[in-house]
Amino acid sequence: MSATVEIFGAGLAGCEAAWQIARQGISVRLYEMKPQKYTPAHHSPTFAELVCSNSLRSDSTANAVGLLKEEMRRAGSLIMEAADATRVPAGSALAVDRVLFSKYITDRIRSTPNIEVVEAERADVSPDTVTVIATGPLTSEPMADYISETLGCGKLHFFDAAAPIVDFSSINMEVAYFASRYDKGDADYINCPMTEEQYNAFYQALISAEEAELKDFDRESQKSLKVFEGCMPVEVMARRGYDTLRYGPLKPVGLIDPRVGKESFAVVQLRKENCEGTMFNLVGFQTHLTFPEQRRVFRMIPGLENAEFLRYGVMHRNTYLNSPDLLSPTYAMRTRPDVFFAGQMTGVEGYVESAGSGLVAGLNAARRAKGEGEAIFPEETMLGAMAAYVSRGGVGAFAPMNANFGIIPPLGYRVRGGKAAKNEKLSERALETLANFLTDI
Ligand SMILES: Cc1cc2nc3c(=O)[nH]c(=O)nc-3n(C[C@H](O)[C@H](O)[C@H](O)COP(=O)(O)OP(=O)(O)OC[C@H]3O[C@@H](n4cnc5c(N)ncnc54)[C@H](O)[C@@H]3O)c2cc1C
Repeated sequence: MSATVEIFGAGLAGCEAAWQIARQGISVRLYEMKPQKYTPAHHSPTFAELVCSNSLRSDSTANAVGLLKEEMRRAGSLIMEAADATRVPAGSALAVDRVLFSKYITDRIRSTPNIEVVEAERADVSPDTVTVIATGPLTSEPMADYISETLGCGKLHFFDAAAPIVDFSSINMEVAYFASRYDKGDADYINCPMTEEQYNAFYQALISAEEAELKDFDRESQKSLKVFEGCMPVEVMARRGYDTLRYGPLKPVGLIDPRVGKESFAVVQLRKENCEGTMFNLVGFQTHLTFPEQRRVFRMIPGLENAEFLRYGVMHRNTYLNSPDLLSPTYAMRTRPDVFFAGQMTGVEGYVESAGSGLVAGLNAARRAKGEGEAIFPEETMLGAMAAYVSRGGVGAFAPMNANFGIIPPLGYRVRGGKAAKNEKLSERALETLANFLTDI
């Protein structure tokens, strides 16, 4: 057995896994196919690229993904270290400057002595080598075939979309205004207010706009197009009903237009993309419209009449395994315990969740290389609950899952003060359990 652990993919999961393994004193060879080859969603040669939103979502431990982030901080996560170092103002969410975030991680990985980076695509596993496959939801085709056929994992796809980014200097701030909902925290969001008339025109244009062809995908996948609810294209959501957007991303409540002194009929929000505040993304506007249609329809939003699009929204296929049949709670294959998977392809959903699975897989890959036993995270922790979900599944067909309190075992006693108070208790228990677990391993 080689003393070096190999990792495929320097994304969120692969970088976190590499970091965890290196911290255990084990050598890592990290393979990344960029810059030689890019997936349809990756554009930068740096590691841990955030391909869509720049938000890592809530930072409160009363929220499941907030708890997950705190657990990761306590377990020495590189991704969380980078996120905390490069955060941009976003109310109670942890959003980052994506360029600085990715650069921070790349610099840390490249300057760690026992991590060797190899810029090459992998399409198979080396013999007698502990391996972490973290090639992501857009795993290159040769690797996907190897996983499917040689490793016998089968294949499954669904679809995801990314939102456009506009240049701040092109936003008409005579119309749009900075504010946070209910004036909570700093006024981090740009708000574009719509009258009923403006919303009607925008809505009609959106539901009838032309969608792009799914060029990258095979015919069979297109026929059975499935969209993950958490990343649904705005035009698909709009077609569900006239008011769906007004109860979703275009919700006007708690936002007072300073020019008229009252709430608008609908509001489009934009969030900072970078620390300098020169780029903003349209919140909830993941889309699959053609680029000219995005330009035409999104410029109907008041304040965006002359918006300059720095990046248009795109839609891509995602790949994930039927993990309950394949993986243990360490993310190792049951039939090949030297081969670990990590990241979105295991069926965890989201940036933080992907990195979290990399942390668990990396720690266990290092232990395997050292000849030590498995470290199965307790299910009372969010890291452990996600690993348990992935290895066991839930009710019905296996589907990707965000961190949530529903997958954590109940407290077993009643808590006064409603859901938030209960979640705080679950978080307290999780963090205590994690502290004991980390001391014991
Ligand atoms: C279009 C899109 C939008 C998304 N938007 C969001 C969002 O807004 N918020 C959110 O929380 N999550 C989002 N996700 C889901 C998910 O959180 C991200 O995909 C996340 O980056 C997954 O992390 P990962 O480490 O599994 O994979 P990635 O971060 O994608 O990393 C995989 C890496 O492996 C490399 N690679 C691929 N194949 C090979 C190979 N054969 N050999 C070597 N290297 C290889 C790739 O170049 C890449 O660098 C989105 C996913 C997609 C596809």
